[in-house]
Amino acid sequence: MKDFDLGSLVRPNILALNPYSSARDEFTGEEGIFLDANENPYGKKNRYPDPRQRKLKKALSERNGIPTRNILIGNGSDEVIDLVYRVFCEPSRDRVIICPPTYGMYEVSANINNVKVIEVPLTSEFELDIDEILSHPAKCVFICSPNNPTGNRLKNVERLLNEFQGIVVVDEAYIDFCTDPGLVSKVQEYPNLIVSRTFSKAWALASARVGIAYANEEIIGLMSKTKPPYNVSALNQSAAIDALSKPRKFEYRLGVILEQRSMLEAELMKLPMVKKIYPSDANFLLVKVDDANNLYRHLVEKKVIVRNRHSVVPGCIRITVGTPDENQTLLEAMKNYNKKI
Ligand code: PMP
Repeated sequence: MKDFDLGSLVRPNILALNPYSSARDEFTGEEGIFLDANENPYGKKNRYPDPRQRKLKKALSERNGIPTRNILIGNGSDEVIDLVYRVFCEPSRDRVIICPPTYGMYEVSANINNVKVIEVPLTSEFELDIDEILSHPAKCVFICSPNNPTGNRLKNVERLLNEFQGIVVVDEAYIDFCTDPGLVSKVQEYPNLIVSRTFSKAWALASARVGIAYANEEIIGLMSKTKPPYNVSALNQSAAIDALSKPRKFEYRLGVILEQRSMLEAELMKLPMVKKIYPSDANFLLVKVDDANNLYRHLVEKKVIVRNRHSVVPGCIRITVGTPDENQTLLEAMKNYNKKI
């Protein structure tokens, strides 16, 4: 991308922001008598966490070869999304582009930040309409790949990175469930790229709320100074570091989920109310059925909770791949539904 001027995209108040400097920013050693942060000297959880999450960034850097200066840790990737708005989008003036059907928080976060949303829907094949996106000037475009709820990886994102005159946020929350390595390795190449990832899906830590943004150093610097100082608790930083230290457990569970995804796909296709299953690069299946609302209610009665996506993709429910037992229970409940009608 030629002639990229990051400064012109950033909100002036953020460019000028003098960030809060916490006690743990000013003294970073681990030993000593800590009388600097008005903490309680007693207890086990009495100390503030590292506001820069250095150990976690180092562990991530070792895993994927990206320097720590290109990494930001968020309170879930939902915080990463919110930070993009706070850094780049001037309330009631700027615009962003989203590509529905997609993850709902891009729009909710825009509404919270009073930023206008331009919708450029995915094509009927659930691909990006790049020419249409490029025809709208906007500060940011949010791309979700693999996309939620459709499940597919999106093609031609690199064309957007080359031609879009703003920030391209690529949400790769589900990237570990497919063979594509994603765009993290490109963050030094594209000055307008932010890749968002999370510990909530393949790393099995949704309750810990740990998200990641990868981007060039300047963008990471701006997001870091905008985030709340202690945005991720020490317990949750440790949980993420611990997960990264057990790659075989991660691979094993991932393998089971992928195997179960194929099994579910094959078994669901045998059911008469299933009209179509969209190919999935994620840990869920988007399934078109005869009557999504009715089937959803039937499954809830059986205590199997799926996501009814009828309002965003007509006729569809989204099924997350569970454990082998959970998946069998789902299949049984769906077979019973057929018997009822
Ligand atoms: N991005 C996508 C595409 C998601 O589906 C979700 C949650 N379902 C998130 C981000 C938010 O993840 P986190 O738990 O990291 O906030």
